[in-house]
Amino acid sequence: MTTTSFWEQDLFYKPYDLIIIGAGITGCSAALEISAKHPDWNILMVERNFYPSGASSRNAGFACFGSISELLDDLEHTDEAVVKELVRKRYEGLLLLRDTVPAEEMDFEMCGGHELFTDKEHFNTCADAVTRFNDWMKDIAGVSDAYSTSKVNGYPVIFNKYEGYLHSGKLMQWLHTQVRNAGIEIRWGAKVKSVKTGNVTLDNDIHLNAHRILLATNGFTGGIMDEVPIVPARGYVFVTNELEEMPWKGTWHYDKGYIYFRNIGNRLLLGGARNVDKSKEETTEDKINPMIKAHLVQFVMNTLKLKGNWAIEHEWTGIMGFGPGKTPMIKEIETDVWVGAGLSGMGVALGMQFGKDIANKI
Ligand SMILES: Cc1cc2nc3c(=O)[nH]c(=O)nc-3n(C[C@H](O)[C@H](O)[C@H](O)COP(=O)(O)OP(=O)(O)OC[C@H]3O[C@@H](n4cnc5c(N)ncnc54)[C@H](O)[C@@H]3O)c2cc1C
Repeated sequence: MTTTSFWEQDLFYKPYDLIIIGAGITGCSAALEISAKHPDWNILMVERNFYPSGASSRNAGFACFGSISELLDDLEHTDEAVVKELVRKRYEGLLLLRDTVPAEEMDFEMCGGHELFTDKEHFNTCADAVTRFNDWMKDIAGVSDAYSTSKVNGYPVIFNKYEGYLHSGKLMQWLHTQVRNAGIEIRWGAKVKSVKTGNVTLDNDIHLNAHRILLATNGFTGGIMDEVPIVPARGYVFVTNELEEMPWKGTWHYDKGYIYFRNIGNRLLLGGARNVDKSKEETTEDKINPMIKAHLVQFVMNTLKLKGNWAIEHEWTGIMGFGPGKTPMIKEIETDVWVGAGLSGMGVALGMQFGKDIANKI
């Protein structure tokens, strides 16, 4: 762009009180909280694509807070108090989400979460820990029966009755409507190239001014400010055709949470397995890793044993962001330039409370 009219300058280049980069669950939740706290602020949200194209509308829609094998794995390298606090945040975050968004607006169902085991010894280790995690849930939520063991389709299973699933796209659509209703401007197709105190530069060299800037760009943050320690982690998901019979209802985890699946009606959604080729998946590239896809297809055939003709009808990748540990990061990286990122694979549970936490800091 070479010239700017008087009118454009007057309208579009005014200094904003806050520019939020990224229209995912973090950006939207923070925007709503901040505008409620500062109703007089002039807030702009910019998103690189025609629709939000980060993890928030590409995830699996699990409303979950931790399978036992994943929690035991976390406890091997993280203090118990830290892991328990994360479970508390996820559980309370889900309550906040369900209190805020009407269930029918996001197709929420309390379907229950399952963990599937194919190794008897691993199951026994996790089953022995059921009492311990039920005690955690008694402290956290005042419930005594969160986890229980059972058998499904011939496999030993640990069931968590306080987990559910939802339609990730509908959740984001609802959030965007609230953001617009709060009088916050959203500009789609506005990719940010660089940021410094007071200034946001878009890919087409438009320069915007703001008193404060929030990067809610999750796994993509390094593309704007490479000093931010958020590592991208690509996740792969596919959805099958409608099957005559769906033997796997509800949400499911396997292999310390690395593989996850659920039903969407009579379709199977399956994803994960990034541990099969972990270092290659530390990327923001939207490309399917054939080794991971093959691993998941084998899992459907050998373990889930779907009957009849099944085929992959949709497949995609999405980018998560991991900070040091699994704890999300809110940090002022330069004067009045903040980063809120690193919700890892738990943004559905953590996102809304994270927005409140960001609003309390900025
Ligand atoms: C495959 C997959 C499955 C998952 N499944 C689940 C699940 O079942 N349950 C769960 O709780 N969590 C899940 N997650 C994690 C969850 O989706 C994330 O933790 C959460 O969505 C992160 O939200 P966010 O707003 O911080 O980031 P994002 O949703 O990634 O938002 C960042 C936004 O910034 C935009 N952006 C990036 N760069 C720029 C730029 N330069 N200029 C302008 N805009 C930019 C992006 O387009 C994007 O819209 C999954 C993630 C993936 C990838």
